[in-house]
Amino acid sequence: MLNQAIAVLLLTGQADLPHHNWRETTAAIRDLFHRDPRFDLRVLEDAGALTAETLSTYQTVLINYNGPRLSRPIEQALERFVRNGGGLVAFHHAAYGEWFGMELRNGKWSAGPTQGWEAFPKMIGASWQTANIGHARRWPFLIDYTSKAHPITEGLPAQWMANDELYHRLDLAPTAHVIADALSPKEIGGTGRREPLAWTNTFGAGRVFFTPLGHDAMAWHQPGMRQLFRRAVEWTATGQVTQSPPKSELKLLVVTGGHGYPTAFYAMLDSLEGVRWTHAANHTEAFARPLTGRYDVILLHDLYNVSTEQTRQRLREFVDTGNGVVSLHHAIVDYTDWPWWYEEVTGGKYFEKPDGSHPASSYREGVDFLVSAVKGKQNHPVLRGVGPLFVHDELYKNMWHSPRIEVLMETDVPDNDRPVVYIGPNQKARSIYIQLGHSAQTMENPGFRRLVRNALYWTARKEGAQ
Ligand SMILES: [Zn+2]
Repeated sequence: MLNQAIAVLLLTGQADLPHHNWRETTAAIRDLFHRDPRFDLRVLEDAGALTAETLSTYQTVLINYNGPRLSRPIEQALERFVRNGGGLVAFHHAAYGEWFGMELRNGKWSAGPTQGWEAFPKMIGASWQTANIGHARRWPFLIDYTSKAHPITEGLPAQWMANDELYHRLDLAPTAHVIADALSPKEIGGTGRREPLAWTNTFGAGRVFFTPLGHDAMAWHQPGMRQLFRRAVEWTATGQVTQSPPKSELKLLVVTGGHGYPTAFYAMLDSLEGVRWTHAANHTEAFARPLTGRYDVILLHDLYNVSTEQTRQRLREFVDTGNGVVSLHHAIVDYTDWPWWYEEVTGGKYFEKPDGSHPASSYREGVDFLVSAVKGKQNHPVLRGVGPLFVHDELYKNMWHSPRIEVLMETDVPDNDRPVVYIGPNQKARSIYIQLGHSAQTMENPGFRRLVRNALYWTARKEGAQ
């Protein structure tokens, strides 16, 4: 049993568009499980095709659905499945809708003539009065684990950052056991109280987990959400959690300062699984103490064209001892007074003014363009799972590029140089430059996030780490 993958059925195919897009969240959930050998997740996009016989091959059922009632025989089969010990996991929009007897009238959910699927609220341990349906404005917020003894939360960090809709005023059944909550801020339309955000329940012999989180793909990319959900699914299936919290985490120093950037940069950083990051808001702060031994990799998203003696000393030592360097977007203007940096480390230079025969480099904001893998580089570890990136970002042209860079991604948009993502020439340290990163849209792009995470892990030489 222990060596067998947990059989999970994802029941989906309907959502209350335009609020929730089941295709997008199903893709994110699929992505969460398909690379994990502990799970065998199967997707059923036509809930009407479910039978008791199909159900019997699964250990737990995951609901990503908000649509019409299922037929009575299907509902009864699901009730029996859970009552007899099958697991049930549901989230977010599964807390309201037609299954609860509600009807959509003039864009608002109202109580309908019937009470809906009577057993479903009993199974998930919650219901929602139509007048109470709502949430604070979408905003990043801290989740607290309130029960650290439960197998789902045991051994996990006590808090994590969500970027989601914070549902409020749900009515929980007395049997529901809350394991996580968060403060719903009044200033952004919340209740000013702590709202339950994850709980377990039992229905007959079945274990149930519900979380009001999970609005969209971005919510599903938060590492805390992924960890919680994977553990919860295992618990509903087997009653235990065998996943240990990640052992090795990448230690990252993030350097900003000297140039503005969208705050979505932080949501991007928070979404990077297995990355513990520290922030230095300027180069003095960043390089006051030695980096070597304290960090595996640095992410430069700053702009300082002049380097101090201290900066040079710390960075040189960090590079010479084989640590990772990732430079993002305007960090290509960093330390242009220091030839060793751009000739031997990053491999690129942005000219703020003409220099000899080299013209000044130029930029153009807010352009839609396509960046794709250089032919033959598609399988490079840095591009794993990234895919072509269609972005709304900034163009850079007339930069200098070392003949020794290895270009991984490129564009053929006219006002940009061809290389967009490349490996620098240094022999001791691995260095990657990623030109994208001007806009919030880019920071929120799952492919871009994957690229940044891959680059951090690859330059830190921890590409096998999860
Ligand atoms: Zn939502």
